[in-house]
Amino acid sequence: VRLGELLAMLDDVRAGQDGNHRARCPAHDDKDPSLSISQASDERLLIKCFAGCSAEDVLGALGLKLSDLFPAAQRAPVQPTILDTYDYVDERGQLLFQVVRFLPKDFRQRRPDGCGDWIWRTKGVRRVLYRLPNVIAAVGAGQPVWIVEGEKDVAALEKLGLVATTNPGGAGKWRSEYTESLRGAWQVNIVPDRDNAGHKHARQVAGALFGAVGELRIVELPRLGGSSTP
Ligand SMILES: [Zn+2]
Repeated sequence: VRLGELLAMLDDVRAGQDGNHRARCPAHDDKDPSLSISQASDERLLIKCFAGCSAEDVLGALGLKLSDLFPAAQRAPVQPTILDTYDYVDERGQLLFQVVRFLPKDFRQRRPDGCGDWIWRTKGVRRVLYRLPNVIAAVGAGQPVWIVEGEKDVAALEKLGLVATTNPGGAGKWRSEYTESLRGAWQVNIVPDRDNAGHKHARQVAGALFGAVGELRIVELPRLGGSSTP
C-alpha cells in the first residue's frame, strides 16, 4: 500500500515532524495515538506501536501483511529453491546430467562442468533413461521394467522392489535411444500419469516399444506416492 492508503485506514491521524504521522493503533484499545507511521527513503512504510503491538498485529487488524509495507517494485520475487535433484547416469553409472526440481514447481536440467560446478545447459548431452544401469540389468535378467512419468514415481515403485524408469523431460519426450535401451525386455509395464497428456504419452511410448520388447502392457495404478506434491 502507499502511505496515503495506509493513513486512510487509520483513525485519528495526525501529522508529526519529519513527515511522520501518528494514529490510533488498530491492534489495541488505543486512546492516545500511539502508532507511528513513516516512510523510509526507499519508500518502504515503517510502523511502530509505542504500546508494544507487533507490526504483524497492527497490519493484521487492517487486513494487511508485512509485505504490504514494501513498494510493489521492491517486493522480492519468489525465489525458486531446489527441492530435489535426480541423477541421470550412463551404463557405467557415470553422471551425464541432472534433472533439478524446484519450488515453485519447475524442472530444469544441468550437467557437471568437470570442475565441481554446474552448467545449466544440456544441449548436446547424451540423453538416457532414468536409472539406466538398473534397466539394462533388468532387461538382461528377464525382469519386468516399469515406465512411469517422473522420477518421484520411479522412487515410489522402487520402494515396492520394482525396476522402474522414466524419460527426462516428461510427456512427449520419448526418444528412440530409450527404446534401444529396452530392446529385448521380457516385459514392460507403462504406467500413465492420470491426465490426458499422461495417457497420450503412454500410448506414444507403447507405440515406440511395440515389437522391440516382449510383453507390453499399459497399467493403470492408483495414484503413486509422489505425484500429488507440490
Ligand atoms: Zn498497539
